[in-house]
Amino acid sequence: MGEPNGENKRESHYEMKLWLQIIIAMIAGMIVGVIMRLTGLDAKLLLPLGTVFLELVRMLVVLLIFASMTLGVTGVHDPKKLGRLGSKTLFFYFCTTIISIFVGIAFATYFEPGVGFSEEMANTPITITEPQSFSEIFVSIVPSNPFAALVSGNALQIIVFSIFLGVAINMSGEKGRPVKEAIESLADVMFQLTGIVMKFAPVGVFGIMAWVTGTLGIESLLKLAKFVLIYYVACILFVGIIFFGILRFIARLDPMKFMKGMWSAIVVAFSTGSSSASLPVSMKCIQENLGVSQNITGFVLPLGSTINMNGTALFQGMAAIFVAQVYDIHLDFYSVLIIVITATLSAVGTAGIPGQGFIMLSVVLTSVGLPYEGLFMLAAVDRLRDMIGTVLNVMGDAVVAVTLAKQEGELDELCYNQGIPELEGSEV
Ligand code: ASP
Repeated sequence: MGEPNGENKRESHYEMKLWLQIIIAMIAGMIVGVIMRLTGLDAKLLLPLGTVFLELVRMLVVLLIFASMTLGVTGVHDPKKLGRLGSKTLFFYFCTTIISIFVGIAFATYFEPGVGFSEEMANTPITITEPQSFSEIFVSIVPSNPFAALVSGNALQIIVFSIFLGVAINMSGEKGRPVKEAIESLADVMFQLTGIVMKFAPVGVFGIMAWVTGTLGIESLLKLAKFVLIYYVACILFVGIIFFGILRFIARLDPMKFMKGMWSAIVVAFSTGSSSASLPVSMKCIQENLGVSQNITGFVLPLGSTINMNGTALFQGMAAIFVAQVYDIHLDFYSVLIIVITATLSAVGTAGIPGQGFIMLSVVLTSVGLPYEGLFMLAAVDRLRDMIGTVLNVMGDAVVAVTLAKQEGELDELCYNQGIPELEGSEV
């Protein structure tokens, strides 16, 4: 896996066409959604198409995380290298998360999207499920029963088990080889299955987009347009400055090639609003289009899709300041510091599914005594922010994976640089 052989190039060609199909489906879904809204038809009717697709993707995630993470660890025989890779990954994730929060806070402070905002919108009732506390999250990452973790799809527990299993397989030497080979074969099969499931992506995306545009109230959209606009601008600048900066100056790679290689994953992230749904295609992209080794992919991406959420962190920083502005609450330096800390933790605790970052925002708000009701105002446009936010979440993991692969000598630069033949030229 991960070699730019002929077969993989054929897959890349397929991927290229896939993203185009998804974009067309997205636009068609939006048009149908608007028409349904105007004609009074319930856009929820089309949602099952999207739900079935998301369920199909979720069907992949558990085994994919298990197989790729375990293989990622077994691929690193030297315990020192494993430690170095682990600490570098966490370091990159931590730094980019902190920067994201600061960017969110800075944009909201400068552009003041919440100043002069009517408080009436705070009365719109929505249902919020209680987030887990941090000590609960910390204790619960160790699985007492790995099968239960797999059955319940608890990503962090699966990752912890896979790391231990990978280390144990290596320590077992020859005797551990059959287990390793079985898991290798499982990973290959899951990759094939990903290709099959992604064929349904355009249909699913069509249903999701029709539902999003068909149910989004124009009134609430207009009221929150400034917030959404600032968020989109901040995200785009974040990609252009931070992500491209890391690729250009730390990894010394061309960021445009990165965008081309990742395009399918970006489109899937934008349309599904779910990093865990984007994980399979994201792994495929960085291995087959960007030449990242299987080890680094397996080690860095599943972990990132669970704990590294740059878009979510940026949103939480921005949203906390927005709510303070709406209610005209002054935040001192200490409160801002608490926001940075809680937003870091809550971004880590955010699951890679639509709307989770919004739920976790309640942790940030309550930590500094901001009104919980502030959430209600942002509910109407959460899906919109989630789409671009998820793109950042997915890209952030891939940027770290590519950078580490380059540093560890596990990047096939020929594959990275030659691009996807069909993407060169006029089509992008
Ligand atoms: N939907 C985001 C993701 O899956 C998480 C969030 O709600 O911010 O990455």
